[in-house]
Amino acid sequence: MKKSGYSFFFHLIHFHHQLSLFHSTSLTSMNSSPPVESLDLIAVGAHPDDVEIAIGGTLAKLVKQGHRVGIVDLTDGEPTPGSPGPEVRLAEAQAAAEILGVQTRLTLDLPNRRLFDCYEARVKLAKVFRKYRPKVVLGIYGKTPMASPDHWQAMQITDAAVFYSRLSKWDTEFDGLPVHTIQKLIWYPLGWASATHETPGSFVIDISDTLEAKLESVRAYKTQFPPGKERVFRMVESQARLLGGLTGIGAGELLISPHPPVVSDLLTQFTIL
Ligand SMILES: [Zn+2]
Repeated sequence: MKKSGYSFFFHLIHFHHQLSLFHSTSLTSMNSSPPVESLDLIAVGAHPDDVEIAIGGTLAKLVKQGHRVGIVDLTDGEPTPGSPGPEVRLAEAQAAAEILGVQTRLTLDLPNRRLFDCYEARVKLAKVFRKYRPKVVLGIYGKTPMASPDHWQAMQITDAAVFYSRLSKWDTEFDGLPVHTIQKLIWYPLGWASATHETPGSFVIDISDTLEAKLESVRAYKTQFPPGKERVFRMVESQARLLGGLTGIGAGELLISPHPPVVSDLLTQFTIL
């Protein structure tokens, strides 16, 4: 199944862009804070660089289309072999967010390397959803064999937090933040191991005009991808070009819908090349 150009995914809502990034060690004071400007979409990763590698082009494109986009990293990704510490990694994440143009990037204080789906993690992420009220959430799809098991746990946490966000009669669990129903949950695979274009529910976002921004955002993680790891960039670009070649566009990123996507106008909302 080859398809792209799901215009239903991109609603035209325009806001001023204002980047804010902070390392969130506690979200407990959110109910006493003034309400924040909502986001149209939040992408959730286990570590800084997950979303850039998988869907950096999609996020940059959404921003160009006028949508308000946020990134939530469940952990700070540290320790890692190449980084001197969390501060450097956070600075890299901020630089990457600025390249993509997203409005907000949050780093939760869940533990890298021992991230587990649990009640506390679900609530922590659901508080972010209740605070920023996104219409769409993008979360990791599937397992990543031979890579961090945090990714699989992140999928369980994200799926559960989307559900927790809309549960009524439970606001006390979320610091009094009101119920918020997320309209769409869409998954993104990290690499080819968990999904391909033949995976049920998969579709392609055309990132021909944002591939360079995606690659630049990944390069912002200098501690993770030093010159000796140039292979990573070839892989990321090759994957985007292969998806583009399969679908007749310059470059693409794969997304997966849990439910069959609905198209009401085959001529304007659906592209098969
Ligand atoms: Zn990761």
